[in-house]
Amino acid sequence: MRKKIVAGNWKMNGSMELLNTLVPALAEEAKQSQAEILVCPPALYLGDVQRKAGDHLLVGAQNCHEAQSGAFTGEIAAGMLAEMQLSHVLVGHSERRAIYGETDQLIAAKTQAAIASGLVAVLCVGETLDERESGRTLDVVLGQVNAVVSQLGLADWSRLVIAYEPVWAIGTGKTATADQAQDVHKAIRNALADYGQDYADAMRILYGGSVKAANAEELFTCPDIDGGLVGGASLNADEFISICRAAN
Ligand code: PGA
Repeated sequence: MRKKIVAGNWKMNGSMELLNTLVPALAEEAKQSQAEILVCPPALYLGDVQRKAGDHLLVGAQNCHEAQSGAFTGEIAAGMLAEMQLSHVLVGHSERRAIYGETDQLIAAKTQAAIASGLVAVLCVGETLDERESGRTLDVVLGQVNAVVSQLGLADWSRLVIAYEPVWAIGTGKTATADQAQDVHKAIRNALADYGQDYADAMRILYGGSVKAANAEELFTCPDIDGGLVGGASLNADEFISICRAAN
């Protein structure tokens, strides 16, 4: 049985005011949730969120650098995140790929750095609308997955979570149907089985892209969907808590 995860990615949104209301509510919810609840605020807020998170709410960063330290102005090393007792970091979000030009190779290096530091890396993958319409969804998605997992030892997989996020569904209000999502999740799990069936069976694969309270349950009950990575809807306590409950 894979434990579900519901993760909120605030992106560059939020404020101290939001944090002060949202995080205590999530900390309460996390105490009784059967799923892991993870919140990924902007880096500047991580310390405050961590202090309010209590013992059950997990806190993660949205990005890290692949090096341990050095002359990289504005960057944060995975080891620093781990030192602050954070548990997770997102890697390869489609906005990092598209806006900041992150390549599969760089994302593999960040994933390795995160895992070596003791963090859980949440590897985001997904196809664009163009790629889907030209029938290349699985090529793209499995290519993105393999580029990273082929660089890891199987022992590292316990510190890896995959998030399938079709780019055309992110922030658009256009969710993949449960069938579309399940098909890709199953294909990812089948591809992972080439490395080891037990490891593939244990991998948590989250869906992301316009997840909301109204569609969460249908998505989360698909056999290969192990929770969600939620952007916009994670900024509203009631909405996000409903999504978390859909994973129970
Ligand atoms: P969305 O974002 O839920 O606002 O579509 C998801 C994400 O980018 O992780």
